[in-house]
Amino acid sequence: MKPTIGFIGLGIMGRPMSRNLLKAGYPLVVFDLVPAAVEEIVREGAQAGASCQDVATRAEVVITMLPDSPDVEAAYLGLEGVLAGAKAGTVLVDMSTISPTVARKVAEAAARQGCPMLDAPVSGGDVGAQKGTLSIMVGGDAETFARVEPIFAPLGRPVLCGESGAGQVVKACNQILVAVTLVGMAEALVLGAKAGVDPEKIVQVLSGGLARCGVLENRGRRILQRDFAPGFRIRLHYKDLNIIREAGRAYGVPLPASALAHELFGAAMAAGRGELDHSGVITILEDLARVEVKSH
Ligand code: NAD
Repeated sequence: MKPTIGFIGLGIMGRPMSRNLLKAGYPLVVFDLVPAAVEEIVREGAQAGASCQDVATRAEVVITMLPDSPDVEAAYLGLEGVLAGAKAGTVLVDMSTISPTVARKVAEAAARQGCPMLDAPVSGGDVGAQKGTLSIMVGGDAETFARVEPIFAPLGRPVLCGESGAGQVVKACNQILVAVTLVGMAEALVLGAKAGVDPEKIVQVLSGGLARCGVLENRGRRILQRDFAPGFRIRLHYKDLNIIREAGRAYGVPLPASALAHELFGAAMAAGRGELDHSGVITILEDLARVEVKSH
């Protein structure tokens, strides 16, 4: 008999993830602030929850997939929140990308109520969520991880990274590397384009040497086609850079490259480009240099 899962947050990521859990045979109780999102998953076989509290009352495992730290705090600690409904022993799994310090704070509140909690942010985007191939970075204790591991299987590949908050720390590391690489790649392409070299050649040559990487191969190609449809939105990566810099301050770690990327992503937000794919940060450097990177 599979445990009943409560799933809260049915956005771009949460909808396909909850669908994959339904397909794997888990009974599901779902909730979102947007009723249409709930109705869509209910039509596919889930039960509707009335609130986060109601979902937690009816489930043995609760998964959340929410935008940011304040949303997770509200959903767990708020009036009619998860902790108002969860019985001792209910396992809580937050898969949103949030601040590691907030993740630890919420997990401590859950532990005081006898509910073990994991942070389990993901990478792999909406396509990974649909295909069930997300990379899942987990923080928490090994016993809880072992209990939840089969539930992760329809969603992707989980790796236990360490204690509570460690999953969010690894996700922050991932987002630093992607943001800084995007900015470095943009700078290289803008210089090459203004100097009159075909950017296609630059991507081709760099992809064969030490500079080769997923960002260059995937997003570099899309820049050459001027395809900035998201993907992962500038708005969300800006949010992640906020989390990263807050973590840097909390742990006393200077993050100068992240700070620069943060400002450039901020400039893209100010220019009204928050809904573009994060590779669209190149347009800010193009504006500064008065050049457009495109194939000859
Ligand atoms: P989204 O904005 O599409 O969905 C979030 C959903 O949460 C919305 O439907 C919203 O109504 C709901 N919500 C907010 N507060 C709530 C509350 N208190 N109770 C119930 N529902 C509530 O966001 P998304 O793209 O699905 O991203 C979710 C998380 O996953 C974010 O932290 C994001 O950074 C992370 N992430 C996203 C991607 C991606 O490609 N979209 C990739 C990796 C990680």
